[in-house]
This record gives sequence, structure tokens and C-alpha cells, in this order.
Amino acid sequence: MGERFRPRPEVAMREGYHSPQVDVEVRLNTNESPFPPPAGFVADLAAEVARVDWHRYPDRGARALRERIAVLHGVAPEQVFAANGSNEVLQVLSLTYAGPGRTVAVFEPTYAMHGQIAKIAGSEVAVGWRGPDLALDLAEVRRVIAEANPAITYLCSPNNPTGMIESREVVEEVLGLVPGLLVVDEAYGQFAPWSALELLDEDRPLVVTRTFSKTWSMAAARLGYLIAPSWVVDELDKVVLPYHLDALKQAAGRLALDHAEEMDQRVAQLVEERGRVVAALTGLPVEVWPSSANFVLFRPLDRDGVDVWRDLLDRSVLVRDCSSWPGLDGCLRITIGTTDEDDRFLAALREALS
Ligand code: PMP
Repeated sequence: MGERFRPRPEVAMREGYHSPQVDVEVRLNTNESPFPPPAGFVADLAAEVARVDWHRYPDRGARALRERIAVLHGVAPEQVFAANGSNEVLQVLSLTYAGPGRTVAVFEPTYAMHGQIAKIAGSEVAVGWRGPDLALDLAEVRRVIAEANPAITYLCSPNNPTGMIESREVVEEVLGLVPGLLVVDEAYGQFAPWSALELLDEDRPLVVTRTFSKTWSMAAARLGYLIAPSWVVDELDKVVLPYHLDALKQAAGRLALDHAEEMDQRVAQLVEERGRVVAALTGLPVEVWPSSANFVLFRPLDRDGVDVWRDLLDRSVLVRDCSSWPGLDGCLRITIGTTDEDDRFLAALREALS
């Protein structure tokens, strides 16, 4: 096709983000909650469908939702920005603060969309590397920040796909180094023992992103948000498309927060189950990374990761194959599921490794 049908070079170069959705009995590859949301929430939402003014645009500022999220975190509604999944939150952040002529810093291995969204927005991406143990290396962070002068620096805590968390001291230290925004992606924040939300302040360039997809059992709804100083939220509101959050989704987010207690129970249950799965993995010939999320990264020691991935699939268990990701040779990632699902996985893995 002729030149005029070519997409922008940033787009043409890229493959897009893929996570294969194979039809299997045990699906442990995309870090979703294994539990559907509480029945009471589904009933509340069904009743809400009849109340929506379907002929009208939704509340553009999603005020009621922002207020509820603000109460949940003890911040002002002006410090909350919500969008269609935290991916869209990250995209609006990149469109607002990165873009052509600006640089975004990431520390690999980490969530691929941070770099991908930044590139599509036309930014440069400065890549730093975690240490051999996959922990953040502060000397490397200092080097990248000094060289690249990033408009956005990403930390992911707990980090996808390692599951590892950054300590408060590390986040504070990086916050002291960044020349632009520090975005801490806490998509898995509720599974972790502390949150960078503690450090939020109108005078600090700190942004914390969260999602309803994991803890709130609402991946299908596509709803995420960030908490930031109000001057950041003001700018994002200028960039995001008008009426980007549909009325039913705004209601879904609000109503989910009415069921916070049940959601918290699910998180506690998953954290406990994570302990059981890690203990079982520790007894097998695999290297396991410490996880503060709802997934665990591991590497078979005596067999090729892809071969093990295929053997698991033959037993109708789908985990994430990370073996071709930078710095993750031979690694696989399993999402914590129900006890039954995890037992199926562990049995299949034992067979694959024997
Ligand atoms: N951040 C991280 C670290 C993730 O792992 C994910 C989901 N894979 C997201 C953000 C995006 O989640 P969502 O768009 O569903 O909120």
C-alpha cells in the first residue's frame, strides 16, 4: 500500500499487547480474581440499569464515583481520576505528561504497557534494568534518571511480573530523584502490606494508579483510577475524551465500594492461598520469587520454561509464559486461583517436572 496508508512509525514498529486466551479448564494467566463479585453487587447493578438515563450523556466528571473513591482512600475528590481500566489511566498520563520530545523511564522486567503506551504517545523510553535478583537497583535508577531526565518515571509495586514490592524507603528515595512525575502502578496494591498512597501530598509529584480489575473482581467492567495531587488531575481532565466513562460503569464502581468488606475478604483469602501455593512451589525444583501480588513468578530449574508451559497446557492449565520477556529466561507466572484450580496447577506442574 502507498505511503499515505502507513500508520505512524511508532505504531508500525509495534506488535501490540497479547495475552493468549486459550480455552482451558484452569485459566491462571491474566491475574484476574478467581471469584465473581458478590451476588449483592450484581443485583444492585442490575437494578441500576433501569435507573440510567440512557438517552443522556453520563456525568462527564464522574463526580459520584470520584467522591466514593476519595472516601475510600481519605483524599479529596479533586485528587481522583478514573478511566476505562488503569491502562487508560496510564495512557491519559502519557498523553498529558510525556509525548514527543519527552522521555519515560521504566525498570525492566516490568509491566510491558508502561513502555508501550509511552511509545505510542510518541515519547522516548529510557530502560533501566533490575538486578540479577529482579529487585530494583537504586544505582541504576539514579543513572537512568540522570541520563534521561524523564517526564514520567514508573515504578510498579507489586511489580508485574515479578510480584516484588518496593519499600517505602525506596519509593521515597526515587521520589527525591525524579525531575518529573513518579507514577507508582499499584494494580495489585491491595495484596501488598503497604501502599505508596501513604506518601501522597499536594506538594509531591507522586501518582498512584489502581484498578477494579483484580481485587474488586471486576476485570470485565474495565475501570481503573489514580490518586494524585489535584493539579495533576486538572490537567488529565483536559486530555481525556468527553464522557469517556459510561453511566453504568460509573455506577458499577460506586456500587462495588458498597461491598468493600466482601471484596477485602476475597483479598485476604487470596493472600492466604498465595502462601500455600508458594510453600508448595518451594518444595519443587523451581526458583520462586517472593510475591506481594495475586500471582507468583517461578522458573523451572531442570526443564525449559516453554516445555513446562506446554505440558501444563496439555493438562488444561494455562499460565503466563514470560520466558521470552527481557530478563526472564525460562520464567512462568501463575495467577493465584481457587484452591481447586491451584491444586490442579500444582499436580500438573509436579507431573511436568517429574
Ligand atoms: N498495571 C499493571 C501492573 C497490570 O498488571 C495491569 C493488568 N495486566 C494493568 C495495569 C491494567 O489493568 P486494567 O487496565 O485492567 O486496570
